[in-house]
Amino acid sequence: MRRVTIFGATGSIGQNTIDLIARAPNDYKVVAVTGGQNIAQLAKDAIALGAEIAVTADENRLSELRDALAGHDIAVAAGPTALCEAAARPADWIMSSIVGSAGLEPGLIALEQGTQLALANKESMVCAGALMKDTAARHGADILPVDSEHSAVFQALLGENIAEVERIVITASGGAFRDWPMEALARATPEEAATHPNWDMGQRITIDSASLFNKALELIETHEFFDVTPDQIEAIIHPESLIHALVGFRDGALMAHVGPPDMRHAIGFALHYPERRHLPVDRLDLAQIATLSFRPPDEARHPALRLAREVMQAGGLAGCAFNAAKETALDGFIARRIGFLDMAAIVEEVLDRLSSKAGQIDAAMTLDNVLALDHLARQEAVHAMDRKQQQG
Ligand code: NDP
Ligand code: MG
Repeated sequence: MRRVTIFGATGSIGQNTIDLIARAPNDYKVVAVTGGQNIAQLAKDAIALGAEIAVTADENRLSELRDALAGHDIAVAAGPTALCEAAARPADWIMSSIVGSAGLEPGLIALEQGTQLALANKESMVCAGALMKDTAARHGADILPVDSEHSAVFQALLGENIAEVERIVITASGGAFRDWPMEALARATPEEAATHPNWDMGQRITIDSASLFNKALELIETHEFFDVTPDQIEAIIHPESLIHALVGFRDGALMAHVGPPDMRHAIGFALHYPERRHLPVDRLDLAQIATLSFRPPDEARHPALRLAREVMQAGGLAGCAFNAAKETALDGFIARRIGFLDMAAIVEEVLDRLSSKAGQIDAAMTLDNVLALDHLARQEAVHAMDRKQQQG
């Protein structure tokens, strides 16, 4: 029986992971499940899966979780330290699907146990890719990409030599505002941004898909995961979301990964790797699909892509500052403090401010430095939003 832990179990990726695990209960022993605010779901899954421990990230909700699990032989804990302790419990496979840089520390601790880490939490690669990879290498741990594009690239590279790769192309649906005129974007609401044409995902990544900040994070994630240079990585709008990524080799061959927009494929691939097992995802009927379309992203509409290129160029801790500023600007947009287009302006302002200060973005990549810069970039983003509001 494989021992598995699921971080962010109550979220969209977490629930898809549980769907797969629950189909083969004899194959898995669930060690820990973690969540945040959704205590009812966390308790329900902990009971159904027979988990050893359930952890909520919110210290204030410990008694609620304890009550929900009364009478069951399941340990309970709460708070960020408890999440880290859960990550240290021996497991063979750990799903990292907390949203945001809050997923970084549990992921690192999981890697220190030499486990297989299925990484949906792209933010940890963006914030601290070198630290994640070094930690994995030192402890003999594997990081398996779960983001659909990166799982697709990983699969296209199986048996290939990365030195023979010319380029990597990741696709983007274009998000909720793909066909909106530019003038309308400034007035777009969080509700409008949180509807995705093809994928059913958490609120934050869905809004990031509309702003293309998700694709911006994924460009950086590609750079970190596959050790290719920024100019080898492209993003293309592909409204059907059926091709997830393509890898181009130096002989001109382009290997595409094609499949339905169902995260259970990428999750299941990481769960069974290096085997391939049957997965309950739709099989594509190519004759019915008939056509696939592509168009280049419009960088004027989506400054996030340009900012991602600047971040890759800057290196160091720029990805950490970028992500933290983006997370805070996204909070501001969801709270209606700033408009949809202001998010990129805030992130750019924070990057400019932090780049001009010695010892920030160019600091050594240690966990302490990453956490300190994450904190500082969030503060800078709040100040930038305050200034924006004062200007009216
Ligand atoms: P959701 O918002 O659906 O779920 C997030 C999970 O993290 C929930 O379990 C939530 O708990 C928990 N959580 C939220 N904040 C914290 C915190 N501060 N500390 C600890 N746990 C927290 O997100 P998704 O499942 O959509 O995304 C998860 C990750 O996977 C993200 O990094 C995303 O970019 C990535 N990803 C997601 C895809 C998708 O299809 N959804 C596709 C590719 C990548 P609760 O809900 O109980 O509050
Ligand atoms: Mg993706």
